[in-house]
Amino acid sequence: MDKLIYVNGIWTGEHLEKIKVSNPATGECIGTVPNGGRKETREAIDAAYKAFPEWSKLTAYERSAYLEKLYDLMIEAIEPLAEMMTLEMGKPLAESRGEVQYAASFIKWYAEEGKRVYGRTIPSHVNHKRMIVTKQPVGVVGAITPWNFPAAMITRKLGPALAAGCTFVVKPADETPLTAIMLAELCERAGIPKGVINVITGKAAPIGEELLTNPRVNKITFTGSTEVGKLLLKQGADQVKNMSMELGGHAPILILDDADIDKAVNNTLLAKFRNGGQTCICGNRIYVEAGIHDEFVERFVRAASKLKVGNGMKEGIDIGPVINRQGYEKIDRHVQNALKQGAKCVLGGSGIVEGDTYFYNPTILTNVKPGMIIMNEETFGPIAPIQKVNSEEEAIKFANQTPYGLAAYVYTENYAKGIRIAEKLNYGIVGWNDGVPSAAQSPFGGMKQSGIGREGGTEGIESYLETKYITVGL
Ligand code: ADP
Repeated sequence: MDKLIYVNGIWTGEHLEKIKVSNPATGECIGTVPNGGRKETREAIDAAYKAFPEWSKLTAYERSAYLEKLYDLMIEAIEPLAEMMTLEMGKPLAESRGEVQYAASFIKWYAEEGKRVYGRTIPSHVNHKRMIVTKQPVGVVGAITPWNFPAAMITRKLGPALAAGCTFVVKPADETPLTAIMLAELCERAGIPKGVINVITGKAAPIGEELLTNPRVNKITFTGSTEVGKLLLKQGADQVKNMSMELGGHAPILILDDADIDKAVNNTLLAKFRNGGQTCICGNRIYVEAGIHDEFVERFVRAASKLKVGNGMKEGIDIGPVINRQGYEKIDRHVQNALKQGAKCVLGGSGIVEGDTYFYNPTILTNVKPGMIIMNEETFGPIAPIQKVNSEEEAIKFANQTPYGLAAYVYTENYAKGIRIAEKLNYGIVGWNDGVPSAAQSPFGGMKQSGIGREGGTEGIESYLETKYITVGL
């Protein structure tokens, strides 16, 4: 399947070098996309810039109608979108179907929320003035997105940006451009005017440089690693670019003595092994209080041992391939480092490498210590390291000892304790007896080096709006 880039409502880039997209479960080439560079990115930015006055002038109700249409088309296309996602990034088909629903929910929710972008009037301190606050779209948005949620990480930005009246240029991850292109095809079918959405594929660095340095881009929204996020912040500094950042995480899971063990096991299974552990809010380190430790480990191992690893296109698979060799090597390095320092492997502990495909078995490590790499760096794989702790205070102390602050999870049936711990955790998201916290209507984002800003919820559209204060002398 050979696809093109989408610029100003035209499918283009036939003349460009082609980049292969491969299936991580089989190593097969499933298609190609053009290697767009600075020139194509500039053209896309110009198209978005030209489309902005008309698009932003539409009423919120008119923009909402386009988004509603896009939502309907996404729901109709659940199967082809899900298959494409599984083919290019490997997650099990059932998870891909779930992701399409989740991705579409951002389009639907912001189709509504765009109608509620309220300003306000402020009582003046003098009689001869009136004070008005209004909201305006920021302008052209440049979006850079990752491979782990090929559809949802785009719609979580696209929905609020378009609803607010912004126009959009997106560079999807090199690993998953085909899903992004399918979304653009649906935008075209929904009748979204030319130039309002543009998709550029190609090498990240030149596209990123153009987006970050072109003065016509008013806003950058990025989801990816903390490392690349820092680079983009530096690149955008000269123009004081308005930036939103969804970066890495290192989520702790705190399981206290009074936890409901069924809830703790079932939710931790989801928080840890969903998407093969390749999400930024996946549980990375598990702290279990001594009184419940052994029972939790036994039940958790029993549950995780049922998970099946393989090609996500096959029925009954729970964990697909690791995205690539670098991903696999990082996972294995974390596991080997922990084992060398005295961790005990109670499940899994190894991978399966065939040709250019990489799988890792669900792995549970106990007797884990704070200094191990796995307790400090994001693993992005199906590895659950468990450390025994002696108290609530100790669990909180370890949980907060990180430069990251995206998501944390806590299991307790005691209401006061749950509130107390949730308030003390320095994280943007706290799942209390809940391993799957994300939803279109809720603010998602991190503290510290996990990011700047929030996506989803009423906060999610604010990122695409400027606040304007108008003071009127009478
Ligand atoms: P991951 O580890 O999830 O691949 P990355 O931060 O490397 O996270 O990638 C997230 C997105 O950032 C992808 O679209 C990738 O192509 C893009 N990216 C990587 N390096 C750069 C760069 N130097 N400039 C702009 N975008 C980049």
